[in-house]
Amino acid sequence: MAYQDEIRILNRQDQADASLPRTPTELPQWIERQDLSEADMPYTHSLLADSFADWREQTEGYLWPSDHPIVLLHPDGTAVAMTGSGGAEDRFSVPRNWSKEAIGLTAGSVALETCRPTVLHSDEHTSAAMKAFDSLAVPVFTRSSGIPCAAMACLLPAGEAQAAELKLLQAASLHFRNCLYRRFELLFIQDLLHRTQLSSREERRRDLLFDVLRRLNDHIDVESVLAEVFDILEQVYAMCRIDLFLSQDYASSNEKVKPLAFHQQEMDICWKAFMEGEIREENDGSRRRIAFPLTGKQGVYGVLRMDVSAGEFDDVDLQFMKTLTAGAGTAFEKAKLHEQANTLIGELRLINELTQRLNSSLRLSDTMQFANSELLHIFKADYCFILQLDRLNGRFVVMSTNAPEMFNEKFDKDYGFCGVMLTTREPIILSDYHSATPVRSHLMDVTQSRSLLASPLLLNGEVIGAVMVTHRLPNHFSYDNYKLLHVLSAHLGLAVSNSSLHAEVRRMVITDNLTGLFARHYLNERIQRKLQKDNFGSLILVDIDHFKKVNDTYGHQIGDAILIQVSAIIRSAIRDSDIAARWGGEELAIYLPRLGLEQTVKVAERIRRRVEEETDPQVTVSCGLSEWTSSDDKISVETLFYRADMALYDAKHKGRNKVAVG
Ligand code: GH3
Ligand code: MG
Ligand code: MG
Repeated sequence: MAYQDEIRILNRQDQADASLPRTPTELPQWIERQDLSEADMPYTHSLLADSFADWREQTEGYLWPSDHPIVLLHPDGTAVAMTGSGGAEDRFSVPRNWSKEAIGLTAGSVALETCRPTVLHSDEHTSAAMKAFDSLAVPVFTRSSGIPCAAMACLLPAGEAQAAELKLLQAASLHFRNCLYRRFELLFIQDLLHRTQLSSREERRRDLLFDVLRRLNDHIDVESVLAEVFDILEQVYAMCRIDLFLSQDYASSNEKVKPLAFHQQEMDICWKAFMEGEIREENDGSRRRIAFPLTGKQGVYGVLRMDVSAGEFDDVDLQFMKTLTAGAGTAFEKAKLHEQANTLIGELRLINELTQRLNSSLRLSDTMQFANSELLHIFKADYCFILQLDRLNGRFVVMSTNAPEMFNEKFDKDYGFCGVMLTTREPIILSDYHSATPVRSHLMDVTQSRSLLASPLLLNGEVIGAVMVTHRLPNHFSYDNYKLLHVLSAHLGLAVSNSSLHAEVRRMVITDNLTGLFARHYLNERIQRKLQKDNFGSLILVDIDHFKKVNDTYGHQIGDAILIQVSAIIRSAIRDSDIAARWGGEELAIYLPRLGLEQTVKVAERIRRRVEEETDPQVTVSCGLSEWTSSDDKISVETLFYRADMALYDAKHKGRNKVAVG
């Protein structure tokens, strides 16, 4: 048996029983105490046999008077080794078992029992088979105790046993004892050496571990923790195959990290280690696969799997890896929590800023534009669309986007992802539009996007719009992105609705209820601004002729209807940039920026003619015109109106249904 094997057995026994023989002196008691199993036997047997071989080597050439072999007996009576050629004939004549039970009384059993050198003559032997021999035996004592750890025995033909032979055997046993001690001490020293090596390796590992655990704890980001773990493993187990599997929630940018795939057969031990939070091992003789869970206080985050050759990985390694993975698990958890806290703080700050900014402007277009650029930035998206639901026409309208060709695009309210969200009122995350999407989307097609994140804009549970961010690459958005957009869209919905309401209120404030034309104060404001910015412009005052009579004839309601008809004619007769307002009861005013008098007369004339032709019941209007240029030094809103009013008076005076210039 090789030394290593003996050491291995020695170690194994050491672990099993603390009261092992520490010196050869203790060997016999120990042998006696042990209920030795088959597996343990080689240790004592081989130690004796090897020592006997040493002895034989050293006594080679010394003349042993008898041709008969000397047998080394184990204290249990079995023959461990013997001199001679070891050929079949020799062995045949020498029993393998010298116990009383096997071959009756012999010098061997007597010497072991009485602890004295013994000669037994043939007639003293109890077994018939032994009657042909004299037997001699000398116990081999340990140095301090009087208990034999072996015996040397010899069989001689009956009558040949002499005192001289016993003396020789005694000398041989003393010599053998030296060989046994030498061998035991060799074993012992090798064991000590091995232990020293082990403990110094353990010490190095411990230092390393201490260092790594300290560094692991310093890290507050997950990637550094992972890098640290890989770094140490590279140092300690450069030759082993090591895989790190993280559960799906913890995707890492480190290429050595793989996701835990539960469906794969070979991942079985990883799965077990992950589910049970315990180390799991698989052994196919030459290779060991060990799965260490990365465990923190709140759960298991992943599994580190090692594939090592069976002889290369011992208990020290196992303990080392156990401590390392436990430390790594805790550090990972800490870093993860830290990152999560940071993300949450970041998101809160973002939401806070965004809401403040969103609410700081009540202009819908500003709000949308700001939200658009912020969303692009937050989600690192390629495109962003904010759509408003126009309930009146049953369609979504793109109110804001960084894809100019899509601005103001209108979609049927049931179409595309907006259509889906109108029904579900839930946000959508789509990892790849190309693979099996149930919905067609013009926005996705035109922008050639593959990733989508979308959320409805809700107000009191009603869908008022939608926000969509897209990316050209698949799998761009994370679940965290999805949750964040969900939160942001609630604020965005409020902001959009606030801006819309504000715009509506403002529209109402500047609009005349009956005619839909602007209100007088708005017209005044606008003219005021134009007087400052432009170089010239003109004003038409329109007054319905004999309107009192119309009221008297048809009633006020018809009067109102006529007022509406005249307003509609005016609206359709002027440019978009012209501003028409209800100036007083049945007096209307139109400001025409940067239009000369000649052109203005044409406009007024057109209005006058169309009113006469198109109103029902028919009415006519009189128009008073005035104009201004930058050369007028005392021009003001009041003077402009005053002049037009004078012209109007003129027109009335000249018989009504006329256009007059002030
Ligand atoms: P003319 O301007 O040609 O001199 O005669 P007129 O009858 O139109 O005279 P005036 O401008 O003095 O009268 C204005 C009348 O218009 C008084 C009022 O009954 C009527 N009116 C003013 N506002 C409204 C309105 O909102 N609806 C209706 N139905 N009538 C209005
Ligand atoms: Mg009037
Ligand atoms: Mg009138």
